[in-house]
Amino acid sequence: MKRVSFSSPDQLPESLFEPAAWMRLWFPVSFGREVQRGYTVAGYALDHSRVDVSFYLHQTSGPAASWALHVHAGSMLNANIAGSQPCIIDERCRGVLLVGDETAFPAIRTIVGSLPERTHAYVLLTGAHDLTDFIAADERVKVWYAPTQKALHVFAKLKDKLQIDSAEPGAWHCWAAGESAMMRAIRSTISHGDSLPKSNVQVRGYWTKRRIMGL
Ligand SMILES: Cc1cc2nc3c(=O)[nH]c(=O)nc-3n(C[C@H](O)[C@H](O)[C@H](O)COP(=O)(O)OP(=O)(O)OC[C@H]3O[C@@H](n4cnc5c(N)ncnc54)[C@H](O)[C@@H]3O)c2cc1C
Repeated sequence: MKRVSFSSPDQLPESLFEPAAWMRLWFPVSFGREVQRGYTVAGYALDHSRVDVSFYLHQTSGPAASWALHVHAGSMLNANIAGSQPCIIDERCRGVLLVGDETAFPAIRTIVGSLPERTHAYVLLTGAHDLTDFIAADERVKVWYAPTQKALHVFAKLKDKLQIDSAEPGAWHCWAAGESAMMRAIRSTISHGDSLPKSNVQVRGYWTKRRIMGL
C-alpha cells in the first residue's frame, strides 16, 4: 500500500469524513485523456484541510496504481464526489461483520475506528496479503485473514458461528467490498431477516479481475 495525502483549493465536503467515504479520482492516460477510479478516504487532518488515500499497488498495475507508484510531491489530480455511501452503524447493533481485500482495507479501518460503543466488529480480511497486523484487535474487535480461494468458505463458517440469523431484530450489520465476483458470491450467501435487515447490508464490488475500465 502507498499512502498519498491530498489537499484541495476548494473546501472539502463534510461527507468525505464519514466512515468508508470515497471519492472519484481521475488519472491521466494517453492523449490528455483521464480515467476515473474510486478511492477511499483512509484518513484526514483534524481541521479537514487534507485527506489521505491508501493505494494498493496491485501487481497487474493500471493507471491508478502506476500513478500512485510514481507520484511525487506537488502532483495534481481531479477529484469529485458522487455516490459515496458511508457505513454508519446503528448504535443498537450488537455486531458488524466486515469483509474485504486490500482495496477494502482502508474503509474497514475507518469503520472499525468509528464503532458505536457497544458494537463488536468481526473482520475477515482476504486478498493476496495478510494485513491483520494493521488492525488493532481487542475484546471488541476480532480479525482474521483468509486467502482469496478460501474466503467464501471462511465467511460462511463465520456467519454460522456468530448465529446472525437467530439474533434480535437489527442486531447485525454487514459491510463487504473487494473483487466483484467474490462480492456477488458473498451477496448470494447473505439471507436478509429481522436480525440483518436489507438496510444493514452493504456489499460492493471495488474492482473486477482482468477488466480494465475506461481505456
Ligand atoms: C468505492 C471504491 C473505493 C475504493 N477504495 C480503494 C482504496 O482505498 N484503495 C485501493 O487500493 N483501491 C480502492 N478501490 C479499488 C480501485 O479503484 C481498483 O482496484 C481500481 O481498479 C484500480 O485501478 P487501476 O487503474 O490501478 O487498475 P485498472 O486499470 O482498473 O485494472 C488494471 C488491471 O489490474 C487489475 N486490478 C485492478 N485492481 C486490482 C486489485 N486490487 N488487485 C489485483 N488486480 C487488480 C484489473 O483486473 C486489470 O486486469 C476502490 C474502489 C471503489 C469502487
